[in-house]
Amino acid sequence: MSIKSNLLDILSQLPEGVKLIAVSKFHPNEAIIEAYEAGQRIFGENKVQEMTEKYETLPKDIQWHFIGHLQTNKIKYIVPYVSMIHGIDSYKLLCEVNKQAEKVGRVIPCLLQIHIAQEETKFGFSFDECREMLAREEWKKLTNISIQGLMGMATYTDSSKQIETEFCSLSSFFTEIKQEYFAQKQDFKELSMGMSHDYALAIAKGSTLVRVGSKIFGERVY
Ligand SMILES: *Cc1c(COP(=O)(O)O)cnc(C)c1O
Repeated sequence: MSIKSNLLDILSQLPEGVKLIAVSKFHPNEAIIEAYEAGQRIFGENKVQEMTEKYETLPKDIQWHFIGHLQTNKIKYIVPYVSMIHGIDSYKLLCEVNKQAEKVGRVIPCLLQIHIAQEETKFGFSFDECREMLAREEWKKLTNISIQGLMGMATYTDSSKQIETEFCSLSSFFTEIKQEYFAQKQDFKELSMGMSHDYALAIAKGSTLVRVGSKIFGERVY
């Protein structure tokens, strides 16, 4: 299967309103170009330096989504061009993104990352940490970021029951905080969940952004 046919196959399964982020980390520009020529414009990366090199050398109408763990000292490299940051996992990081975005005169779309998996290695706010952060309302003063939704990763497991439960919990939390804090904000609409092995389950639970890598580009060689 080629990158193009993998891509078209996945696109054909997405209901209206669900967007595909082609996760191109560890894959070379040639692979991205192949997907680009098949019509794909949104790509996801998880390393600042790798994404920035790709941004500099690839077509400028590509929308780059940062999906990794972001270190505060590296924010400045991506704020000039990044389309969305998925992994906001602390109020401090949100403030830093806001500060750097202000310097370049942009408003950066951000997603709050919520820890829904059983594994300890995955980053993110707990539901309560996120509720507390939003309740403090300090974030409302940050005018150079726009909180547009939530992101989460399910446990890496064969149990679709467990994955479903985790996606359901994120989906209900999305509804809860949308009502509580973003009822007036039309921009708060994205639920980023689902990867190669679980995107179908994620869509069934309300995902609007699926982040698919290996199913498009093949296995990554680290
Ligand atoms: C790598 C990665 C993906 C894509 O994973 P695949 O299993 O290759 O689809 C999705 N989301 C995040 C946050 C990732 O780091």
